[in-house]
Amino acid sequence: MTKKLTPLEIMERLVSFPTVSRDTNLPLVDWVQDYLSSHGIESHRWVDPDQPHKAAVFAHVGPMEEGAVVLSGHTDVVPVDGQPWDTDPFTVVEKDGKYFGRGTCDMKGYDALAIWALVEAHEQGVKRPLQLALSFDEEIGCTGAPPMIEAMQPVLPKGSAVIVGEPSMMKAVTGHKGGTGYATHLVGFEVHSSLMHTGVSAIMQGAKLIDWANQQNAENMAKQPGEVQAMFTPPWTTCHVGMIEGGTAHNITAKDCRFMMDFRVVPGENAADWEAAYLAKVRTVEAEMQAIHPEARIDVSKHFDVPGLVPEQDGVAEALVRSLTGDNGSHVVSYGTEAGQFQKAGYSAVICGPGDIAQAHQPNEYITVAQFNAGHAFMRGLVEKLRG
Ligand SMILES: [Zn+2]
Repeated sequence: MTKKLTPLEIMERLVSFPTVSRDTNLPLVDWVQDYLSSHGIESHRWVDPDQPHKAAVFAHVGPMEEGAVVLSGHTDVVPVDGQPWDTDPFTVVEKDGKYFGRGTCDMKGYDALAIWALVEAHEQGVKRPLQLALSFDEEIGCTGAPPMIEAMQPVLPKGSAVIVGEPSMMKAVTGHKGGTGYATHLVGFEVHSSLMHTGVSAIMQGAKLIDWANQQNAENMAKQPGEVQAMFTPPWTTCHVGMIEGGTAHNITAKDCRFMMDFRVVPGENAADWEAAYLAKVRTVEAEMQAIHPEARIDVSKHFDVPGLVPEQDGVAEALVRSLTGDNGSHVVSYGTEAGQFQKAGYSAVICGPGDIAQAHQPNEYITVAQFNAGHAFMRGLVEKLRG
C-alpha cells in the first residue's frame, strides 16, 4: 500500500499532469487508478472510442447498494498558451495564502479532495456509499460527462445525490443556465468588390445573423423575468458570438465566414425553441444569398449542448450540502456544468466546490489555502455523515 496522501499532495500530483482538454488525460487516470487500488479501491475507466487518448474514471466505496453520494469533477483544464504565468502552471506553488497552478481552482483542487474522501470513506467504513466520477472534455462544452454517466450506471449501483465541485466558494448552487452552441459557416460567392452586387459576401450576410443576436439580446433584456429567472445574472437568455473568421482580401467579396453562435438559456425557456428561431433566421438569410447566387449556402452544426440545472423542490443533494456547509442562501450561476446532465439522467444534483470561478481559466490561476481547507473540512464532514 502506498502512503496515504494529503489533499494537497494529491492536488500536486493532479496538477502535474498537463491535461489540457485537447491532450491526453490517460497518465492522470492511470495515476488515480493506481492510487485508489493501492488503497484497496476498485475503479473503472471508460475510454472514449472516438478519442482513445481520453478516459473517465469512476469508483464506488461502501456497501454495494444504491443511494451513494457522487463526487463529480472534470480532469481537463483550459490551455495556458499565450498566458503570462509567473510560475510553472503545472506545478503547485504556495504563496501569499494561495495555491497557484492550472486547475487548482477549476477543478483539480476539488478532484483531489474527492479522491481523498473516497480513500477515507473506504478505510473508515461507511454505511452509505460514496462514489467518485471524474470526466474529461468539460472545458470544451461538457461533452465528456454524458457518456461517463451512461457508462457508470450498469457498473455501479445508482447514486442519489451528486455534488459537482465547480468553484462556488463552497456555496450550494442549485441552478444554472443551459447552453447550446452552433458552428455556423456561410459560403458566399467571390467577385471583385467593385462588382459586389453580383457576388455574395459571406461576411456581410453573416453580419445579419450576428445582428439578429443583438436584437434578441435587446428584446430579452426588456422582458419581465419570472421568479426563477430573476435569480440569474443576467435574468434573460443571452445570444453570443465569441469567435469569427472569414474573407481573403479587402477588395474581394468574402467566400467564407465562420462563427460560433452560442445561447445561454434561462430556465422556463427552451433551448430547442432558440435553435428553431436561429435556424429560421439562417434559412431566411440563406434564401437572400441564393437569390444572388444559387450555390451560396449556410451550414450549421451544433458544437455543444449542455442542459440547464433546474433548482429542485426539496432536492436531496441540496439538503445534504446545506447540512454540511450551513449555507442556507439560494445561489444560481450562469455557467454550464455536468450537474444539469446528471439531473437529466435522474440524479439529484447540486454544485458545491472550493474556490472562486473568477480565478478559473486565468493566468496565475489559484485557489486560496482557506478555500482549499474549507473544501477539506466539507469532505471530513461528509465522510463523518456517511459513517452514520
Ligand atoms: Zn470547471
